[in-house]
Amino acid sequence: MPIRQVFTEGEKPVKVWTDDIDARSQAQLINISRLPFIHKHVAAMPDVHLGIGATIGSVIATDKAIIPAAVGVDIGCGMAAARTSLTADQLDEKGLKKLFDQISRDVPVGRAQHKDDRALTDAAEPFAAPLKVMTDKHPQLLKAFGRFSNWVNQIGTLGGGNHFIEVCLDESDRVWVMLHSGSRGNAIGHYFIELARRDMERWMIQLPDRDLAYLPEGTEHFDDYVEAVSWAQTYARENRDQMMRLVLAALARHLPEFSVTEEVVNCHHNYVDRENHFGANVWVTRKGAIRAREGDLGIIPGSMGAKSYIVRGKGNPESFCSCAHGAGRRMSRTAAEKQFKPADLEAQTQGVVCRKDKGVLDEIPGAYKDIDQVMANQSDLVEVVHTLKQVVCVKG
Ligand code: 5GP
Ligand code: MN
Ligand code: MN
Repeated sequence: MPIRQVFTEGEKPVKVWTDDIDARSQAQLINISRLPFIHKHVAAMPDVHLGIGATIGSVIATDKAIIPAAVGVDIGCGMAAARTSLTADQLDEKGLKKLFDQISRDVPVGRAQHKDDRALTDAAEPFAAPLKVMTDKHPQLLKAFGRFSNWVNQIGTLGGGNHFIEVCLDESDRVWVMLHSGSRGNAIGHYFIELARRDMERWMIQLPDRDLAYLPEGTEHFDDYVEAVSWAQTYARENRDQMMRLVLAALARHLPEFSVTEEVVNCHHNYVDRENHFGANVWVTRKGAIRAREGDLGIIPGSMGAKSYIVRGKGNPESFCSCAHGAGRRMSRTAAEKQFKPADLEAQTQGVVCRKDKGVLDEIPGAYKDIDQVMANQSDLVEVVHTLKQVVCVKG
């Protein structure tokens, strides 16, 4: 489906890939489009919904400036997926509970039980020196990280909220592992959002929304942010690789011998990068959106009771070669907790081994948009390569 709506109230247009957008998200997008350094237009993906700083499901190309709150504090959040050589008949139902327990034990909680995992120590090692340089220059950053060793101990761990690990089956009953996590270092995001705010005040720059404070290229804070955000993004990708290794090891303890096929995907959905669009080198911030250049493989999860998709990008320049990063929320966490009961969660996650208690009600499938509608709205952005459905879901 092509672009469904264009808002022209701002300096530049906002192009939207859905009819399903609320007034506050619309206003938020228009505010972004009023900034003087927006390249061409703002693109809103079909899973668009209200965010802090910038709308979730937005793609913001900027010339000579970055808005740290648009990248957000969940820097490098994203998805990883890998297809194994296993098939559905090799998982029995009793076994699924074992897998749930093993993954829950081995991955989310931290390094305590992985003290002797040399690979995790080795994976964390290259991040130490550059972090030391950053924190020597910005001592407040170190303070925010807590202890210097905190982040090192987090590599290979899931993080809370809606981060998750799943065992899924695809359209041919082949077994996949899919996971959602990031850099676990939101200190960097908070720190630079605050720096940008203070710079705006110092320079007396008026903004349509104080959350849209930006760092202009050519300033020291800009350079430091680019260094820090790149560090966090690289860390996030490595974190997902390490988690994937640990999940596969957890499966190996209970399942017949298997291998990982060449179908492996690892993509950010909250990040900023330098890219060329419409003939210019610009910064592209994807806030709840994934890159979908022609041939790019991406992951679009649905919810803890819906299908997810492995997709291939079509390279549509109008979306800055991007697409949706999920179904997107239909309602806030508090609204979901009010509206639904554990019995609803039970009904909406049938056939999935997962938590079904009050503690995850905010993540109930009914709190998310219909993933199939989202997919239909972006048929000009991506094509579906695989359709996945989870049988195990471990929430952070
Ligand atoms: P976000 O990164 O914006 O927090 O979430 C990304 C997307 O993941 C959501 O928009 C939603 O569609 C999807 N999602 C949330 N929880 C789950 C889950 O437990 N399993 C799967 N497969 N998808 C989920
Ligand atoms: Mn995240
Ligand atoms: Mn995420």
